[in-house]
Amino acid sequence: MSQSFQLYIDGQFEPGAASFGSVNPATGRVWAQMPEARTQEVNRAVDAADRALDAPAWKGLTASARGKLLYKLADLVEKAAPRLAEIETSDTGKIIRETSSQIAYVAEYYRYYAGIADKLEGSHIPVDKQDMQVWLEREPVGVVAAIVPWNSQLFLSAVKVGPALAAGCTVVLKASEEAPGPLLEFAKLIHEAGFPPGVVNVITGFGPECGAVLSSHPKVSKVAFTGGPETARHIVANTANNLAKVSLELGGKSPFIVFADTDIESAVNAQVAAIFAASGQSCVAGSRLLIEASVKDRFLSMLIERVERIRVGAPNDVATEFGPLCTERQLRNIEAIVEKSLKQGAKVLTGAKALDREGFYYAPTILDCTGVDRPDCITKELFGPVLSVDTFASEQEAIDKANSTVFGLAAGIFTTNLTRAHRVSKRIKSGIVWINTYRVVSPLAPFGGFGLSGHGREGGLSAALEYTTTRTVWLRTSDEPISDPFVMR
Ligand code: NAD
Repeated sequence: MSQSFQLYIDGQFEPGAASFGSVNPATGRVWAQMPEARTQEVNRAVDAADRALDAPAWKGLTASARGKLLYKLADLVEKAAPRLAEIETSDTGKIIRETSSQIAYVAEYYRYYAGIADKLEGSHIPVDKQDMQVWLEREPVGVVAAIVPWNSQLFLSAVKVGPALAAGCTVVLKASEEAPGPLLEFAKLIHEAGFPPGVVNVITGFGPECGAVLSSHPKVSKVAFTGGPETARHIVANTANNLAKVSLELGGKSPFIVFADTDIESAVNAQVAAIFAASGQSCVAGSRLLIEASVKDRFLSMLIERVERIRVGAPNDVATEFGPLCTERQLRNIEAIVEKSLKQGAKVLTGAKALDREGFYYAPTILDCTGVDRPDCITKELFGPVLSVDTFASEQEAIDKANSTVFGLAAGIFTTNLTRAHRVSKRIKSGIVWINTYRVVSPLAPFGGFGLSGHGREGGLSAALEYTTTRTVWLRTSDEPISDPFVMR
């Protein structure tokens, strides 16, 4: 008997307009039934969020009281982390080692925004007028549509739901149809924490019937989106309807630059983490290795040796280091891009094939693209375990190659030369630069990209301000009557 999940709308759990099977990527078989939200459910969720926005049960809370609810939610997430991790592993195929540690850390994001709730202050403005007091008040921006992809969804929703609630907004959170289980389970924690009905609604459904209706809804004031650039174009077009504020966290093709002076062993381990953790299904995947030509052979022989020792296995086994891809579509897409890249001249150093076992497994793959004119594996986001290798002979060449992409999410620089680290990091066009480390995040540190990797930042205090708008209040303090009505003062 497969498990089943429900939508969460206006404080109630419900089955949705229809249901669909969710596939466990490790077996290729349906493991749970998911509820589908269509136009009617989306409309009810947005209406509930809109009513909750001004209802005394939410609007009447002090900012500190909102913070306390968020602290409670953080504790509940921490307690439920093992159960949420199991669901995420079954639904997405991500290894249990990663889901359990990542979800436990998600609690810190809610704690961080809990602490920020009563610090979103207004200000006093010393205007250039006599007898006037002017101040700025901060208001919640309104109903937020938070739309997330299937990967790291508890994390990707925490950076939206946390600041939105801290600011006093209400939320309709849309889980990806590919693996909605973890967020539908998370809805139970929202309920248990005691948020008033309608403050957070959790739904799932397909792009056109659910995501499009939500992002174009006239009562939505902000769309916080994480996903691919193609979907982002639809989102931006949808918001031509409601003129909602939009933040976009999109894909990447991040360079991983290794200078000859670095600690090679440490850089090899970081490179493994950068592209093979989560089977490469990470927006910040360091998928383009740029290696200084003089150390290419040494680095690659160590890297290949480590990659061929990666423990591939069932994602729910704690010993497993590498699991399946989330969907069969994703597997076929990667196969096609690799095949084309080989025709374009890339050479296989390891992998480059689907694994002969049940589920959607693709081998950890390294392709040598040195001297090949921009094959597809260098230019396209694969969202999978494929590393493309290229070399450089000078610092300038490393920078030029790193920047030759339409994306700009993250970059890694490995060097022990301090001045070079500063010089190069300043010239890399990406929203995040990791020096001698990779794939580290914190609720305090803003996250987001340049170019086709999107705009807006998540994480940190500035992200919370994005969920607010301001009201400028003018108070005339003179008791003298207003004299000339035709002169603006
Ligand atoms: P996707 O763009 O296909 O889907 C994301 C969400 O958008 C899903 O919930 C989907 O239902 C919804 N959607 C689809 N069509 C829509 C429409 N017309 N209107 C409104 N919503 C719609 O992304 P995916 O394949 O699930 O995830 C992979 C992508 O996400 C990759 O490109 C990856 O790099 C990116 N990503 C980015 C970050 C980041 O923080 N920058 C993090 C994780 C993933």
